[in-house]
Amino acid sequence: MKGTMHAALGAGAGFITANSLQSDPSATMFLVTVGGIAGLLPDVDVDGKLSNKITFSYKLIRTVAQLIGFLMILYSFLEGSSSEKWIGIIIGAGMMIISSFLTQRRMLTVTGIGVLAGGLSLHESWLILLGIYIIVASFISHRSYTHTLIGMLFFAAIALRFEQSIGVEGTFAACMGAYASHLIADMKILPFNKRGVKYFLPISKKEF
Ligand SMILES: [Zn+2]
Repeated sequence: MKGTMHAALGAGAGFITANSLQSDPSATMFLVTVGGIAGLLPDVDVDGKLSNKITFSYKLIRTVAQLIGFLMILYSFLEGSSSEKWIGIIIGAGMMIISSFLTQRRMLTVTGIGVLAGGLSLHESWLILLGIYIIVASFISHRSYTHTLIGMLFFAAIALRFEQSIGVEGTFAACMGAYASHLIADMKILPFNKRGVKYFLPISKKEF
């Protein structure tokens, strides 16, 4: 299913939550937004679309890093004293080599590390867990662990701490409704899905 539909379903889950809690307009807006994001989150493991939106263009960063590496080599070669020269050349060459391996997936890893670091410095446990979620998602194949009951349970821990931190009633419910709607909308019983959801990984690989 397409990202826009997942976001719409998630936003719908947020709206239903807000309605049943008779939330005020600003809380309703918040729950709809959070639902839309939570509805998209399981597909953070897809190359392209979502991970492209939350990460910088890896091609741009790769080019910039290679350019800096090259200039560093050039500058060290021309300006540095003998020991500085070699350190500069080695660092410059290292930057060029490492950045040539940078892929969209690794940019997602870097983003996850950034979220994790942000959570650690702000002492926000939900951000720390979200960072871990993104890092793990950047290493697994699409529709694997983010689309399982374990993935949903891990997300529940994030959502619970998020509600406690943000203090808006219904945040947890909106998040979980949105996440569940994503997994249901990806199921094989729906005619437009070629692949299904392996809810019980790693215990069972059965697709639903
Ligand atoms: Zn999906």
